[in-house]
Amino acid sequence: MTAKSAAAAARATVYGYPRQGANRELKKAVEGYWKGRVTADALRETAAELRRTTWRQLAESGVHEVPTGDFSYYDHVLDTSVMVGAVPARHRASFEADALDGYFAMARGTQDVAPLEMTKWFDTNYHYLVPELGPDTVFATDSAKQVAEFKEALALGLSARPVLVGPVTYLLLAKPAPGVAADFEPLTLLDRLLPVYAEVLADLRAAGAPWVQLDEPALVQDRTPAELNAATRAYRELGALADRPKLLVASYFDRLGDALPVLAKAPVDGLALDFTDAAAANLDDLAAAGGLPGKRLVAGVVNGRNIWINDLEKSLATLGTLLGLADRVDVAASCSLLHVPIDAAAERDIDPQILRWLAFARQKTTEIVALAKGLSQGTDTIAADLAANRADLASRAGSAITHDPAVRARAAAVTDADGRRSQPYAERVAAQRAHLGLPLLPTTTIGSFPQTTALRTARADLRAGRLDTPGYEERIRNEIREVISFQEKTGIDVLVHGEPERNDMVQYFAEQLTGYLATQHGWVQSYGTRYVRPPVLAGDISRPEPMTVRWTSYANSLTDRPVKGMLTGPVTMLAWSFVRDDQPLGDTARQVALALRDEVNDLEAAGTSVIQVDEPALRETLPLRAADRAAYLYWATESFRLTTSGVRPDTQIHTHMCYAEFGDIVQAIDDLDADVISLEAARSHMQVARELAGHGYPREAGPGVYDIHSPRVPDAAEAAALLRKGLEAIPPERLWVNPDCGLKTRGWPETRASLENLVTAARTVRAEL
Ligand code: GLN
Ligand code: ZN
Repeated sequence: MTAKSAAAAARATVYGYPRQGANRELKKAVEGYWKGRVTADALRETAAELRRTTWRQLAESGVHEVPTGDFSYYDHVLDTSVMVGAVPARHRASFEADALDGYFAMARGTQDVAPLEMTKWFDTNYHYLVPELGPDTVFATDSAKQVAEFKEALALGLSARPVLVGPVTYLLLAKPAPGVAADFEPLTLLDRLLPVYAEVLADLRAAGAPWVQLDEPALVQDRTPAELNAATRAYRELGALADRPKLLVASYFDRLGDALPVLAKAPVDGLALDFTDAAAANLDDLAAAGGLPGKRLVAGVVNGRNIWINDLEKSLATLGTLLGLADRVDVAASCSLLHVPIDAAAERDIDPQILRWLAFARQKTTEIVALAKGLSQGTDTIAADLAANRADLASRAGSAITHDPAVRARAAAVTDADGRRSQPYAERVAAQRAHLGLPLLPTTTIGSFPQTTALRTARADLRAGRLDTPGYEERIRNEIREVISFQEKTGIDVLVHGEPERNDMVQYFAEQLTGYLATQHGWVQSYGTRYVRPPVLAGDISRPEPMTVRWTSYANSLTDRPVKGMLTGPVTMLAWSFVRDDQPLGDTARQVALALRDEVNDLEAAGTSVIQVDEPALRETLPLRAADRAAYLYWATESFRLTTSGVRPDTQIHTHMCYAEFGDIVQAIDDLDADVISLEAARSHMQVARELAGHGYPREAGPGVYDIHSPRVPDAAEAAALLRKGLEAIPPERLWVNPDCGLKTRGWPETRASLENLVTAARTVRAEL
């Protein structure tokens, strides 16, 4: 087939769409169902209506092939577990009694039965429910959801393509079920799983599906030869099925690398590849593998996980190159549009000039359609789109918002020395001890205290104009007074102000930094019915005025004990926002770091001797491929140091991370050059302390002794036992006593009791030293 006729066939498609509905109707219906206010039938009808609305919109905007099966009441990986019959034994009875309730029980747990574990979907902020498998797992086909949703789209007269999580990715995302040996490898179940996929494919074929998409994003991660062999086998077997639909194997989030030739050679009918900057190597790798002669290539040229308009001319150039490499080239977003909000046009408060730079799911769909048209019918048929796109890109590139000379000059002038404390850790630790005068095993908390309904109501009242700013701030000061007085009474050594002013640990700062944008309706699913509105790093970042100093100072004025200042670190600010795509991440991180550095210095100048900079996202932002990690950790640790190194040697810098597994980043944690780190450890019995010691970590550390993820109150003996365990790994002069994480989701009664017990435990163990 010539390049010209390949282009003539170009179609526009997507792999998935936000599920929630324009007004988060799905969240309301699902939560209503949980509370018994919405019937199962009403929930099903809401869901079906949302699917129809989405499909119609996609079709009306010119998408040729709509995805089906990507919809979910909670999570598409959990849906896959249902599809293959991998319902954990502890949930089976309830699932068999009522599939919908059993489904939600797997997702959320019940009073008596634990839910499936939840973890992040690759390097996005979406969380999936981890399949639990073991040597005894018996798979069974349940294609009902896939078939029904496909038929719904068909009934609308649409051309549709079911999208499934592929078998290799499904197994690679799974973990050994409780009670199964930890070294059990779910991938060993592949031969048992493939017949289930074969049946699902046959059912979809029988329902009339010409194509089925199998998503294999796990293949963009570093994979062993055995894992690549498994992929070869899987697709050889599925490809060899008689009377099957055509198979499209999709990957996204990064380059396929060694997996590309594996999939290119597989007897499937098409590949969907990511061609955005992060996966740019796919283009050369595909050419090197000899292209996809005789196959369909779906080109993910529109970034499915940022919120920026596409560079249409650049995409057309990529598509033009691809025309020579496959039998047919279609146009898509790089991944499901699940990771972006629905419609930028719904934003009323964003400067119209900036709004033109933004593309949410609807705008991205329009871009995909335009690109497919330009590719098929010639670029002159989309001349108006191209002209508008060129103007919008130029407006963004030339804007004073994206190019603030003062911010740029400052960032460019940063030297190595700016990112280094004036004294090395070993020297400044003595200055800090003298300055702070803390006991051995000092007690502290991670920052937040319970965010009560009263506080949230006050914030809502302020927004709605029912409460004025002085009135609101008075409430915040009242709260700080209470938190400080409780901590003093309880005998905590390093106090916090409790973070009552924060709506969210990123948003609060984003709202005060120039160059950051908030959205009104930019909801993105985080997990289940939880949606977040990540702020947008839109321009160069600067700090017009101090952000937290008055709250910390107020808290300081109420007590003689040290009050710890509290900030969110630059890496976390980036990780939980939409980032710029017009400059390297490291440049954005440096700008944020410089703004935060001013805040740190101002806190110190206002008399704060202990300052905590939280970086819970340091590890979750690790690139998917090991080869890319060093470069990431370089700018990540540099930006943290830039934030914190402007202070005197006797000012103590803390950091906090909320996870227990970090063996692979201990060096990076050391490179932060913080004085004290607090980490999650209560559930893992101080495993963290042993790991830190095992890696020779030389600094002070507070492995958590109070699991804040549960309302359970640990008694003093239990906390003391954990501390003694901690002391086996970390010497008393370097061990801190604190909870696992912030207390904002906890209630006051359990917080009070737990912290009292924690102080008692510290005193008991101190007396034994
Ligand atoms: N200082 C924050 C708090 O206490 C830290 C939150 C976090 O680690 N995610 O809430
Ligand atoms: Zn935490």
